[in-house]
Amino acid sequence: MSQRVALKIDVDTLRGTREGVPQLLRLLARQRVDATFLFSLGPDHTGRALKRIFRPGFFSKVVRTSVTRHYGWKTLCYGTLLPGPDIGRREQATMRAVRDAGFEVGVHCFDHVLWQDHVRGRDPAWTRRQMTLAVEAFDRVFHDKPPVHGAAGWQLNEFVPAIEAELGFHYASDTRGREPFLPVMGFARGSCPQLPTTLPTFDEIIGVDGCTEENVAHVLFRHSLAPAPAGHVFTLHAELEGMRLLSAFDTLLQRWLDHGLQPCSLREIYRHLPSLPAAHEIHFEPIKGRSGELACQGRNVDALDQSEPRLGLDDQLHVLDGGVAVQRKGQIDMDDIAEPGARTGKP
Ligand SMILES: [Zn+2]
Repeated sequence: MSQRVALKIDVDTLRGTREGVPQLLRLLARQRVDATFLFSLGPDHTGRALKRIFRPGFFSKVVRTSVTRHYGWKTLCYGTLLPGPDIGRREQATMRAVRDAGFEVGVHCFDHVLWQDHVRGRDPAWTRRQMTLAVEAFDRVFHDKPPVHGAAGWQLNEFVPAIEAELGFHYASDTRGREPFLPVMGFARGSCPQLPTTLPTFDEIIGVDGCTEENVAHVLFRHSLAPAPAGHVFTLHAELEGMRLLSAFDTLLQRWLDHGLQPCSLREIYRHLPSLPAAHEIHFEPIKGRSGELACQGRNVDALDQSEPRLGLDDQLHVLDGGVAVQRKGQIDMDDIAEPGARTGKP
């Protein structure tokens, strides 16, 4: 059976919904491949994300991917100089067209900037409110419940997995990792399986080790040859691969199809899970090419035997380009494996 690669399309902004999504729809229809679209359903406050430029590790990313070219100045003013437009209300027709074309649709967030910048420090009431607002907005657009949640910026807190189950999500893709798992955070165990993003994104590898917009499809293709028993999950953005990087994404799709890989939706990965996946811890770790720390798949807690100590607070798990390394305290110099600027995480 051919290797599956789920296409998880994050839609962050009004402009991405309006311009990037229709271009991706046309490309996917032409290539006859399935995908999952995750929408931002509330206000577009992208302009407020400008303050991230002052975070450690962010500036190089701005330079590499040229955020202003990708998002446009108008988008960068939403929520600051201009009021944030309500994406779910203004782009209902676009979102419904995606569902009507047969693609899976789900929730990315209500307010992307608010979630990405604040969810880690917030309590259950705040978290439930944000997720409920997203589910209600999804219902206004689709008159249905969303099956899948994919957290904005791979950010979450320990209450998110339980609230996902409570709100009726069947599965989620909030994390970076290697294979599907049941989430464990702190003392909380979630019953909603995580289907983590297994591959780097285009914007994480462009500008690194000679990777350019011209060869990024080939570099990513090589990453996708790494084994993934349950299939890979590749995250792309309507604002990037749906616009400026559309032809690079087209090239990647063609390479996958030529080599017998099967692009698909997250629903396909979920459907083909052989059984309930194992429980894994979720940690926050830096990811090469991205600022701050992201939610990552940690150790299998079911497989830990009694003689082996649980992963301690000082132990770290790193998801790197080529695989995963568990670092016991004092074993490896952190600077060998992570960009110094990216380690400091949130301010
Ligand atoms: Zn996003």
